[in-house]
Amino acid sequence: MKKIIEKLRIKLRNYNPKLNEECGVFGVSNILDASALTALGLHALQHRGQEGCGIVSFDGSQYHSEKRYGLVGDNFNKEKVLKKLPGKYAIGHNRYSTTGGTALRNIQPFFADTNAGGIGVAHNGNLTNAITLRNELVKEGAIFYTTSDTEVIVQLIAKSKRSKTIDKIIDAIFHIQGGYALVMMTKNILIGLRDPYGIRPLVIGKLKNSYVFASETCALDIIGAKFVREVENGEIVYVENDELKSLKPFSPKKVRPCVFEYIYFSRPDSILNGKTAYEYRKNFGTQLAKEDNIEADIVVPVPDSGNAAALGYAQEKKLPFDLGLIRNHYVGRTFIEPSQKIRSLGVKLKLNANLSVINDKKIILIDDSLVRGTTSHKIVKMLYNAGAKEVHVRIASPEIKFPDFYGVDMPTRKELLAANNSVKEICDFINAKSLKYLSINGLYKAMGFEKRNETYPQLTDHYFTGDYPVKPIDELGDDKITQLSLLSTASNN
Ligand code: AMP
Repeated sequence: MKKIIEKLRIKLRNYNPKLNEECGVFGVSNILDASALTALGLHALQHRGQEGCGIVSFDGSQYHSEKRYGLVGDNFNKEKVLKKLPGKYAIGHNRYSTTGGTALRNIQPFFADTNAGGIGVAHNGNLTNAITLRNELVKEGAIFYTTSDTEVIVQLIAKSKRSKTIDKIIDAIFHIQGGYALVMMTKNILIGLRDPYGIRPLVIGKLKNSYVFASETCALDIIGAKFVREVENGEIVYVENDELKSLKPFSPKKVRPCVFEYIYFSRPDSILNGKTAYEYRKNFGTQLAKEDNIEADIVVPVPDSGNAAALGYAQEKKLPFDLGLIRNHYVGRTFIEPSQKIRSLGVKLKLNANLSVINDKKIILIDDSLVRGTTSHKIVKMLYNAGAKEVHVRIASPEIKFPDFYGVDMPTRKELLAANNSVKEICDFINAKSLKYLSINGLYKAMGFEKRNETYPQLTDHYFTGDYPVKPIDELGDDKITQLSLLSTASNN
């Protein structure tokens, strides 16, 4: 017994409730081959999460669900699997999580039977009051099957006293806080919604007479759907009888999308607020060059995250852009590895120096962001070992000093290099000749704003400023996490 309690204590200490990370969501309504289209959409959103994927479909009388570990292309590529997902309605989910809860049961979409019928739920984002809500629900007698905060939403929908599903959903979202984009499906409606600040992204597309909801526009392109518009912040859209309807139940808030979608997370070809992520990133590089005065021979990107910014920087400075690092495309994102040791190995697996380009050169090395410093530290060393004369690191975003609670994998302050070190100290740590970050107003300028609006910031930019639009209210008191940890223990077995 003592041993079990000790094991539980360790679990409690190590438990990380952030389970719904930078996922990708997708849904289609009333169209032939709905699950095949969903598989394609998820494939285009693969960069948003590679741990697991799932699809729920509805065939007119029954729901079907398939969930798998790993990549969409390895799991939903066969007729055999897609045949198990018949029907004209489908939603899908790509999952990314940092630690714990890697059980198949945590892979989405979730499905539940309510007194208004079945409902499938796919969620991107993180709730900042999930633990508090979960404890209240447990006190009222709810039983949780997974460790994911998405199940809190499902339970809230199920327990609502309203009779129509859409009203139950509205009831539920009045309770939740944080950054979230949800795609849901019942037997006759497809629903999409975004949190009141529009922190997490969601777009609407149209394919023939059918509507499509997806995290990013690249998922519309792959199936030939036309981009209609973004779901607005705090808006609920739903498709009923092929008609798109919109509700805005929240009191209006100024939109504040997550800046990291622009800097790193979205695929470069996805359109965010009228421009491709690629254009924004190139502009970050251009602006960084304007703020910089270093002499060098070539500009080298950290592929692929630094490509667009490096191009913008090189063009602005009229310096040659060259591929000094070659990427192995058969390795996932290095961040995906939960432990620091494996993550640093990942950098080596992924990149190698291109000798002919870097030998004897003064190099400006550009990446989109610096978080723990793992990538820069390894690459600078790699470039010097390959004969670089000087390596000047330039980061196309400001110093990351604060963690995230809205669904981006951004570690605790302890692990964030810029939270605890000066630029000079970081430069020494990564062994670069010099280091410079894009300024915060430069970032806003590059996005087309005059500067950051200090009263109503245009973006969710807490990473750099500590300004959180939604205050995280969950406190990890012992009594609050006991229930979760027990579940976490079960799911990891
Ligand atoms: P680090 O190596 O810890 O300094 O992290 C910086 C590298 O990770 C950069 O190459 C970024 O492109 C990438 N990166 C930054 N933020 C994230 C994130 N939330 N998830 C995955 N990768 C990231």
